[in-house]
This record gives sequence, C-alpha cells and structure tokens, in this order.
Amino acid sequence: MDATFVVATFNPHKASELHALLGLPGLVLRAVSEWPGATAPEETGDTLLANARLKAQAACALTGLPAIADDTGLEVDALGGAPGVYTARYAGEHATYADNVAKLLRELSGVAPEQRPARFRTACVAVWPDGRESVAEGVVEGTIVTAPRGTNGFGYDPVFAPAVGTAERTFAEMLDTEKNTLSHRARAVHALAAQLRG
Ligand code: IMP
Repeated sequence: MDATFVVATFNPHKASELHALLGLPGLVLRAVSEWPGATAPEETGDTLLANARLKAQAACALTGLPAIADDTGLEVDALGGAPGVYTARYAGEHATYADNVAKLLRELSGVAPEQRPARFRTACVAVWPDGRESVAEGVVEGTIVTAPRGTNGFGYDPVFAPAVGTAERTFAEMLDTEKNTLSHRARAVHALAAQLRG
C-alpha cells in the first residue's frame, strides 16, 4: 500500500512501534508532533473509541492527511470496569505510572486473587479527510496481581498478568517481543491493518 498516514501521538516511539505492528509495506507514518502547532486534544469522550476518534480527527484536520489514533483502558471487574477511560489519570491529572499502580492496588486491597479479573482494551481508528473511518478493537484478558513484579514495559505492566499459559507472569516480566505478540494494542493494530489491506 502506498500511502502516508499521520499518527496522532506525541510519543516518538509510538509511530515506529505502530509501523512495525501494522506491517504494511509502502506505508509511511509520520507523527503529528512533526507539525508546528500540533497539540493533543482534550480527551473528553466517554469511551475509548470516542477519545481515539477525537485524536485522529484533530490530526487529520491539522495535516490534511489520513490519521490513525489509539486509546487504551484497563477494566477491572471488581471495580465495576474502572479505571476504563480514566486509566492514564486514575490517581489524578498529573499522576505518574507509580501513582496509578499504587491507587489500583489500594482499591483492590482485600480482594482475593481469583476475584481480580481485568482486561486491557485498545480502540484504534483511522480517519480520512473525506470523513471515512475504519475502527478496530483489541482486548487481552488477565488479572491484577497483589504486588508489582518485573521491570519491563510501562504503565500498569507490573501488576497485569495476561491469561496465557500456566505460569502467571506480569507484562513487566515479559520481553517486549513477547508482550507484542499478545497485547491489546497489537491485537487492535493487527485488526486495523487487516481492514486497511482491504
Ligand atoms: P494510551 O491511550 O495508550 O495513552 O494509554 C492510556 C494509559 O493506559 C497509559 O497512560 C497507561 O497507564 C495505560 N496503558 C496503555 N497501554 C498499556 C500497556 O501496554 N501496559 C500497561 N499500561 C498501559
């Protein structure tokens, strides 16, 4: 596919990660942060898809190029699906990853291991200047462990153990290459790539 898309991210690693995950020869991805005046829109949507769409539409409007954006949430059953759309700012607007993890473990203190199912969900959307869009989702089921383990990855990785195999390892105990074969984001991006290939 010969096409240029803008990726609605200010994280320089995300465009290259997305490029590898999409695996579409001929596809050129540019980060929206390359454009002067680019700002991240406020994520005011009440779903992951709505927030991904806000980011993609803003990048598309600024650049005139088709745009791709994603948005991820962690859903914990024992917390009624929280933090969900508030995953990035669970412990407050400027919360660090460590703050968010500490709050999650606090909220789940006293909850038995078998009552800690959770999932990561990623919504991924591509929008075109003429208003067309493609939407995809990726989910990975797992549990929230009782204490952080591992040093790889980011965010909630030290407390999320995906439901794979028999040994309960957190994402932070896996290599990036292993996480990328089963993660929510990889699944969403692969589903989007299948649609872009047509
Ligand atoms: P974003 O929509 O990709 O910015 O993700 C929102 C928030 O979800 C991040 O700030 C992280 O706290 C969390 N998150 C997203 N993806 C992952 C992941 O793969 N592992 C752990 N935490 C994640």
